Amino acid sequence: MTEASSALRSTTAPLLALAGVTCAYGNTAVLTDVDLEIEEGQFTGIVGPSGSGKTTALRALLGAVQPVRGSVLRRPDVRIGYVPQVETVNWNFPVTVGECVLMARTTGRRLPWRSASERGEVRDILDRLGIADLTNRHIRELSGGQQQRVFIARAMLGRPDVLLMDEPTSGVDVSTRHEILHLLEDLHHDGLSIVLTTHDLNGLAAHLPHLVCLNNTVIGAGRPIDVLTVDVLERTYGARMEVLEHAGMPVVLDHPHHRPTASGQVVPIRRTGT
Ligand code: ADP
Repeated sequence: MTEASSALRSTTAPLLALAGVTCAYGNTAVLTDVDLEIEEGQFTGIVGPSGSGKTTALRALLGAVQPVRGSVLRRPDVRIGYVPQVETVNWNFPVTVGECVLMARTTGRRLPWRSASERGEVRDILDRLGIADLTNRHIRELSGGQQQRVFIARAMLGRPDVLLMDEPTSGVDVSTRHEILHLLEDLHHDGLSIVLTTHDLNGLAAHLPHLVCLNNTVIGAGRPIDVLTVDVLERTYGARMEVLEHAGMPVVLDHPHHRPTASGQVVPIRRTGT
Protein backbone atom coordinates (compact mmCIF):
# COMPACT_ATOMS: atom_id res chain seq x y z
CA MET A 1 0.00 0.00 0.00
CA THR A 2 1.34 3.47 -0.83
CA GLU A 3 1.76 6.07 1.89
CA ALA A 4 -1.08 8.15 0.42
CA SER A 5 -3.55 5.27 0.31
CA SER A 6 -2.60 4.20 3.81
CA ALA A 7 -3.21 7.77 5.07
CA LEU A 8 -6.56 7.81 3.30
CA ARG A 9 -7.41 4.47 4.80
CA SER A 10 -6.64 5.68 8.31
CA THR A 11 -8.73 8.86 7.96
CA THR A 12 -11.74 7.05 6.53
CA ALA A 13 -11.62 4.04 8.87
CA PRO A 14 -14.40 3.99 11.47
CA LEU A 15 -13.43 5.30 14.90
CA LEU A 16 -14.73 2.10 16.50
CA ALA A 17 -16.25 -1.11 15.23
CA LEU A 18 -17.55 -4.46 16.40
CA ALA A 19 -17.08 -7.15 13.76
CA GLY A 20 -18.98 -10.39 14.32
CA VAL A 21 -18.76 -9.86 18.08
CA THR A 22 -20.19 -12.36 20.55
CA CYS A 23 -19.95 -11.51 24.27
CA ALA A 24 -20.95 -13.80 27.10
CA TYR A 25 -21.16 -13.76 30.88
CA GLY A 26 -20.47 -17.35 31.90
CA ASN A 27 -22.23 -19.54 29.36
CA THR A 28 -24.86 -16.97 28.44
CA ALA A 29 -24.26 -15.02 25.24
CA VAL A 30 -25.63 -11.50 25.71
CA LEU A 31 -24.41 -10.30 22.30
CA THR A 32 -24.32 -12.61 19.28
CA ASP A 33 -22.52 -11.88 16.03
CA VAL A 34 -22.86 -8.10 16.35
CA ASP A 35 -21.56 -5.84 13.58
CA LEU A 36 -21.45 -2.15 14.42
CA GLU A 37 -19.41 0.69 12.95
CA ILE A 38 -19.02 4.09 14.56
CA GLU A 39 -17.84 6.61 11.99
CA GLU A 40 -16.23 9.93 12.79
CA GLY A 41 -18.94 12.56 13.36
CA GLN A 42 -21.67 10.00 13.95
CA PHE A 43 -24.35 10.45 16.64
CA THR A 44 -25.86 7.04 17.28
CA GLY A 45 -28.38 5.72 19.74
CA ILE A 46 -28.45 2.04 20.69
CA VAL A 47 -32.00 1.09 21.66
CA GLY A 48 -33.46 -2.12 22.97
CA PRO A 49 -35.26 -3.52 26.00
CA SER A 50 -33.64 -3.91 29.39
CA GLY A 51 -31.11 -6.77 29.30
CA SER A 52 -30.75 -6.65 25.49
CA GLY A 53 -26.98 -6.07 25.70
CA LYS A 54 -26.77 -2.27 25.19
CA THR A 55 -24.34 -1.64 28.05
CA THR A 56 -22.31 -4.69 27.09
CA ALA A 57 -22.00 -3.34 23.52
CA LEU A 58 -20.68 -0.02 24.89
CA ARG A 59 -18.27 -1.84 27.19
CA ALA A 60 -17.06 -3.98 24.29
CA LEU A 61 -16.39 -0.83 22.22
CA LEU A 62 -14.53 0.59 25.22
CA GLY A 63 -12.47 -2.58 25.74
CA ALA A 64 -13.89 -3.26 29.21
CA VAL A 65 -15.46 -6.54 28.04
CA GLN A 66 -13.59 -9.01 25.87
CA PRO A 67 -15.62 -10.78 23.19
CA VAL A 68 -15.54 -14.56 23.08
CA ARG A 69 -15.73 -14.32 19.27
CA GLY A 70 -15.21 -11.62 16.66
CA SER A 71 -13.10 -8.49 16.92
CA VAL A 72 -13.26 -4.98 18.28
CA LEU A 73 -11.55 -2.44 16.07
CA ARG A 74 -10.40 0.97 17.26
CA ARG A 75 -8.71 3.55 15.10
CA PRO A 76 -5.18 3.63 16.55
CA ASP A 77 -5.29 7.28 17.65
CA VAL A 78 -8.88 7.28 18.91
CA ARG A 79 -9.62 8.79 22.34
CA ILE A 80 -12.74 7.46 24.01
CA GLY A 81 -14.72 9.09 26.82
CA TYR A 82 -17.08 6.89 28.81
CA VAL A 83 -20.08 8.33 30.65
CA PRO A 84 -21.64 5.72 32.96
CA GLN A 85 -25.20 5.83 34.26
CA VAL A 86 -25.52 8.48 36.97
CA GLU A 87 -27.37 5.98 39.17
CA THR A 88 -24.22 3.85 39.47
CA VAL A 89 -22.47 6.51 41.56
CA ASN A 90 -22.55 7.42 45.25
CA TRP A 91 -23.34 11.12 45.04
CA ASN A 92 -22.74 11.52 48.80
CA PHE A 93 -18.99 11.09 48.29
CA PRO A 94 -17.50 14.23 49.90
CA VAL A 95 -16.08 16.12 46.93
CA THR A 96 -16.87 19.28 45.02
CA VAL A 97 -17.75 19.38 41.33
CA GLY A 98 -14.24 20.63 40.41
CA GLU A 99 -12.56 17.87 42.45
CA CYS A 100 -14.87 15.23 41.04
CA VAL A 101 -13.93 16.21 37.47
CA LEU A 102 -10.21 16.36 38.28
CA MET A 103 -10.37 12.90 39.88
CA ALA A 104 -11.09 11.52 36.41
CA ARG A 105 -7.43 12.17 35.58
CA THR A 106 -5.72 9.28 37.31
CA THR A 107 -3.08 8.28 34.79
CA GLY A 108 0.32 9.84 34.30
CA ARG A 109 0.15 11.82 37.56
CA ARG A 110 3.31 12.43 39.53
CA LEU A 111 2.24 15.19 41.88
CA PRO A 112 -0.35 14.84 44.63
CA TRP A 113 -1.66 18.37 43.98
CA ARG A 114 -3.19 19.84 40.86
CA SER A 115 -1.33 22.20 38.59
CA ALA A 116 -2.75 25.57 37.60
CA SER A 117 -3.03 24.33 34.02
CA GLU A 118 -5.11 21.32 35.13
CA ARG A 119 -7.43 23.56 37.12
CA GLY A 120 -7.67 25.87 34.11
CA GLU A 121 -8.56 22.91 31.90
CA VAL A 122 -11.36 21.90 34.28
CA ARG A 123 -12.62 25.47 34.41
CA ASP A 124 -12.76 25.60 30.59
CA ILE A 125 -14.68 22.32 30.38
CA LEU A 126 -17.16 23.27 33.11
CA ASP A 127 -17.61 26.60 31.38
CA ARG A 128 -18.24 24.86 28.04
CA LEU A 129 -20.86 22.67 29.73
CA GLY A 130 -22.53 25.64 31.43
CA ILE A 131 -21.74 24.62 35.03
CA ALA A 132 -18.66 26.74 35.84
CA ASP A 133 -20.64 28.38 38.67
CA LEU A 134 -20.96 24.96 40.34
CA THR A 135 -17.19 24.28 40.58
CA ASN A 136 -17.08 24.55 44.38
CA ARG A 137 -20.50 23.03 45.01
CA HIS A 138 -20.71 19.61 46.72
CA ILE A 139 -21.79 16.96 44.20
CA ARG A 140 -24.60 15.92 46.58
CA GLU A 141 -26.35 19.23 45.89
CA LEU A 142 -26.71 18.77 42.13
CA SER A 143 -29.83 18.19 40.07
CA GLY A 144 -30.05 15.23 37.67
CA GLY A 145 -29.10 17.38 34.68
CA GLN A 146 -26.15 18.89 36.55
CA GLN A 147 -24.95 15.40 37.60
CA GLN A 148 -25.03 14.33 33.96
CA ARG A 149 -22.99 17.41 33.00
CA VAL A 150 -20.39 16.56 35.66
CA PHE A 151 -20.08 13.07 34.20
CA ILE A 152 -19.69 14.49 30.70
CA ALA A 153 -17.08 16.93 32.04
CA ARG A 154 -15.10 14.02 33.51
CA ALA A 155 -15.13 12.27 30.15
CA MET A 156 -14.23 15.50 28.28
CA LEU A 157 -11.07 15.91 30.37
CA GLY A 158 -9.47 13.21 28.22
CA ARG A 159 -10.26 15.27 25.06
CA PRO A 160 -12.21 12.40 23.50
CA ASP A 161 -13.02 11.94 19.82
CA VAL A 162 -16.02 9.85 20.80
CA LEU A 163 -18.26 9.76 23.88
CA LEU A 164 -19.87 6.47 24.89
CA MET A 165 -22.81 7.24 27.16
CA ASP A 166 -24.96 4.80 29.07
CA GLU A 167 -28.59 5.90 29.43
CA PRO A 168 -27.90 9.65 29.76
CA THR A 169 -31.57 10.49 30.32
CA SER A 170 -32.54 7.62 32.59
CA GLY A 171 -34.58 8.83 35.56
CA VAL A 172 -34.62 12.53 34.61
CA ASP A 173 -37.65 14.75 34.06
CA VAL A 174 -38.75 16.14 30.68
CA SER A 175 -37.02 19.51 30.92
CA THR A 176 -33.75 17.88 32.03
CA ARG A 177 -34.04 15.45 29.12
CA HIS A 178 -34.39 18.39 26.71
CA GLU A 179 -31.44 20.09 28.37
CA ILE A 180 -29.23 16.99 27.99
CA LEU A 181 -30.33 16.39 24.39
CA HIS A 182 -29.53 20.00 23.45
CA LEU A 183 -26.16 19.80 25.17
CA LEU A 184 -25.29 16.61 23.29
CA GLU A 185 -26.44 18.15 20.00
CA ASP A 186 -24.12 21.12 20.67
CA LEU A 187 -21.16 18.86 21.46
CA HIS A 188 -21.89 16.83 18.33
CA HIS A 189 -22.12 20.02 16.31
CA ASP A 190 -18.65 20.96 17.62
CA GLY A 191 -17.24 17.72 16.18
CA LEU A 192 -17.64 15.13 18.94
CA SER A 193 -18.87 11.68 17.89
CA ILE A 194 -21.44 10.23 20.30
CA VAL A 195 -22.81 6.77 20.97
CA LEU A 196 -25.47 6.48 23.64
CA THR A 197 -27.80 3.80 24.89
CA THR A 198 -31.39 4.56 25.69
CA HIS A 199 -34.73 2.92 26.17
CA ASP A 200 -36.47 6.26 25.64
CA LEU A 201 -37.75 5.89 22.08
CA ASN A 202 -39.81 9.08 21.72
CA GLY A 203 -38.00 11.38 24.15
CA LEU A 204 -34.48 10.72 22.92
CA ALA A 205 -33.97 8.03 20.23
CA ALA A 206 -36.35 9.53 17.65
CA HIS A 207 -34.40 12.83 17.80
CA LEU A 208 -31.04 11.27 16.91
CA PRO A 209 -29.66 11.07 13.37
CA HIS A 210 -28.89 7.33 13.56
CA LEU A 211 -30.15 4.35 15.58
CA VAL A 212 -29.20 0.75 16.15
CA CYS A 213 -31.95 -1.57 17.42
CA LEU A 214 -30.37 -4.28 19.52
CA ASN A 215 -31.68 -7.39 21.17
CA ASN A 216 -28.77 -9.77 21.59
CA THR A 217 -27.96 -9.05 17.95
CA VAL A 218 -28.52 -6.07 15.65
CA ILE A 219 -32.13 -6.07 14.44
CA GLY A 220 -31.98 -2.83 12.44
CA ALA A 221 -29.80 0.22 11.89
CA GLY A 222 -30.39 3.53 10.15
CA ARG A 223 -32.38 6.74 10.48
CA PRO A 224 -35.14 6.68 13.12
CA ILE A 225 -37.81 7.03 10.44
CA ASP A 226 -36.44 3.89 8.75
CA VAL A 227 -35.81 1.69 11.80
CA LEU A 228 -38.56 2.64 14.23
CA THR A 229 -41.06 0.53 12.33
CA VAL A 230 -43.69 -1.87 13.64
CA ASP A 231 -41.72 -4.85 12.35
CA VAL A 232 -38.27 -3.86 13.67
CA LEU A 233 -39.75 -2.78 17.03
CA GLU A 234 -41.61 -6.06 17.42
CA ARG A 235 -38.46 -8.03 16.72
CA THR A 236 -36.47 -5.81 19.10
CA TYR A 237 -38.96 -5.59 21.99
CA GLY A 238 -41.00 -8.75 21.45
CA ALA A 239 -44.14 -6.60 21.61
CA ARG A 240 -46.39 -5.12 18.98
CA MET A 241 -46.35 -1.31 19.01
CA GLU A 242 -48.01 1.32 16.89
CA VAL A 243 -45.90 3.87 15.02
CA LEU A 244 -47.29 7.26 13.98
CA GLU A 245 -45.52 10.03 12.15
CA HIS A 246 -45.51 13.54 13.53
CA ALA A 247 -43.61 16.43 11.90
CA GLY A 248 -41.53 13.91 9.94
CA MET A 249 -40.56 12.01 13.09
CA PRO A 250 -41.73 8.59 14.23
CA VAL A 251 -43.78 8.43 17.43
CA VAL A 252 -43.98 4.99 19.00
CA LEU A 253 -47.13 4.08 20.90
CA ASP A 254 -46.91 1.30 23.38
CA HIS A 255 -50.59 0.43 23.62
CA PRO A 256 -51.51 -2.81 25.38
CA HIS A 257 -55.11 -2.59 24.08
CA HIS A 258 -54.05 -2.82 20.45
CA ARG A 259 -54.44 -6.27 18.94
CA PRO A 260 -53.01 -7.42 15.62
CA THR A 261 -55.62 -8.35 13.00
CA ALA A 262 -55.32 -11.40 10.74
CA SER A 263 -53.60 -9.14 8.19
CA GLY A 264 -51.05 -8.11 10.80
CA GLN A 265 -52.39 -4.56 10.91
CA VAL A 266 -52.70 -3.07 14.39
CA VAL A 267 -56.09 -1.53 15.15
CA PRO A 268 -57.25 0.06 18.38
CA ILE A 269 -60.04 -1.75 20.23
CA ARG A 270 -63.29 0.19 19.80
CA ARG A 271 -65.05 1.13 22.98
CA THR A 272 -68.75 1.78 23.30
CA GLY A 273 -69.52 5.40 22.56
CA THR A 274 -66.29 6.09 20.64
P1 ADP B 1 -28.86 -3.56 28.83
O1 ADP B 1 -27.83 -2.47 28.93
O2 ADP B 1 -29.52 -3.62 27.48
O3 ADP B 1 -29.87 -3.54 29.94
P2 ADP B 1 -26.71 -5.34 29.64
O4 ADP B 1 -25.64 -5.32 28.63
O5 ADP B 1 -26.51 -4.53 30.88
O6 ADP B 1 -28.10 -4.96 28.94
O7 ADP B 1 -26.99 -6.83 30.10
C1 ADP B 1 -27.29 -7.87 29.21
C2 ADP B 1 -27.49 -9.15 30.01
O8 ADP B 1 -26.25 -9.51 30.62
C3 ADP B 1 -28.50 -9.00 31.14
O9 ADP B 1 -29.23 -10.19 31.23
C4 ADP B 1 -27.63 -8.80 32.37
O10 ADP B 1 -28.27 -9.31 33.52
C5 ADP B 1 -26.40 -9.63 32.03
N1 ADP B 1 -25.18 -9.08 32.64
C6 ADP B 1 -24.74 -7.81 32.50
N2 ADP B 1 -23.57 -7.64 33.16
C7 ADP B 1 -23.29 -8.83 33.74
C8 ADP B 1 -22.22 -9.32 34.55
N3 ADP B 1 -21.20 -8.52 34.91
N4 ADP B 1 -22.25 -10.62 34.94
C9 ADP B 1 -23.27 -11.42 34.59
N5 ADP B 1 -24.31 -11.04 33.82
C10 ADP B 1 -24.31 -9.77 33.40
